Amino acid sequence: MGVLTGRTALVTGASRGIGRGVAERLARDGARVAVHYGTNEAAAKETVAAIEAAGGSAFALGVELGAPGAAEAVWAKFDARADGLDILVNNAAVPTSSAFEAIDEAEFDRLFTVNTRAPFFLTRLAAGRLRDGGRIINISSGATRTTAMAELMPYAMTKGALEVFTRYLARVLGPRGITANTVAPGIVDTDVNAQWLRSSDEAWAGAAAFSALGKVGTPAEIADVVAFLASPDGRWVTGQWVDATGGSLI
Ligand code: NAP
Repeated sequence: MGVLTGRTALVTGASRGIGRGVAERLARDGARVAVHYGTNEAAAKETVAAIEAAGGSAFALGVELGAPGAAEAVWAKFDARADGLDILVNNAAVPTSSAFEAIDEAEFDRLFTVNTRAPFFLTRLAAGRLRDGGRIINISSGATRTTAMAELMPYAMTKGALEVFTRYLARVLGPRGITANTVAPGIVDTDVNAQWLRSSDEAWAGAAAFSALGKVGTPAEIADVVAFLASPDGRWVTGQWVDATGGSLI
């Protein structure tokens, strides 16, 4: 019996990277996990297979966020496979390296559509499904606390909006014992960073140097923080921005 036995979780963007790490960890703690993905069905099935091989329970759920009606589609697929919801982790997001001077309107809209609008409407529809005592965990970024990284600024704006939303959720859902928190990773070794992070030993060392702990983060390290907030031990923490950067300056 794990601390989440009997609970059901939905993790968006759980086919790869941090989302996969979170899905695996919540399943190890006993939750049945809906492994959401956008287009990469094979990777989502791999996540499900890994969870099942470890003795857990999961199912894959594919809906491309940002398309019209995506939130309704996610919950229709979820309801067909699950009986109620206890934990929602809004993790799926897209990056950009287009800075203030370079980003065009289409890319700006795409960023906000996937990173901000999608979790907003997904969560609004989740609120009625979440059982009392439930958990909402929104994955932001350490980039929201810095003003110096021009190439991350538009992306950080989408995450800043998610943080405002999280504080609101904590206030309105608190009377039902539902907590809402933000987890902010620093640089994590996932597909989104692979090209530059793995381009040279210098790039890797430079990324590691951003963390006070002197290393690049792993999905499992973010998942452990999410797991605490999702667990019964996290019941008295809500409306918070939780640093999961390893003491990073960005
Ligand atoms: P990743 O490896 O690129 O994985 C992204 C996940 O999101 C995939 O499962 C992908 O699904 C899904 N996704 C992306 N766009 C989608 C869409 N339009 N509709 C549905 N699903 C979509 O990302 P990651 O590095 O693990 O990042 C996870 C979260 O952590 C994000 O919110 C990111 O902003 C945040 N974060 C990451 C870092 C880092 O250094 N990695 C740092 C700070 C914050 P498919 O597999 O189907 O494409």
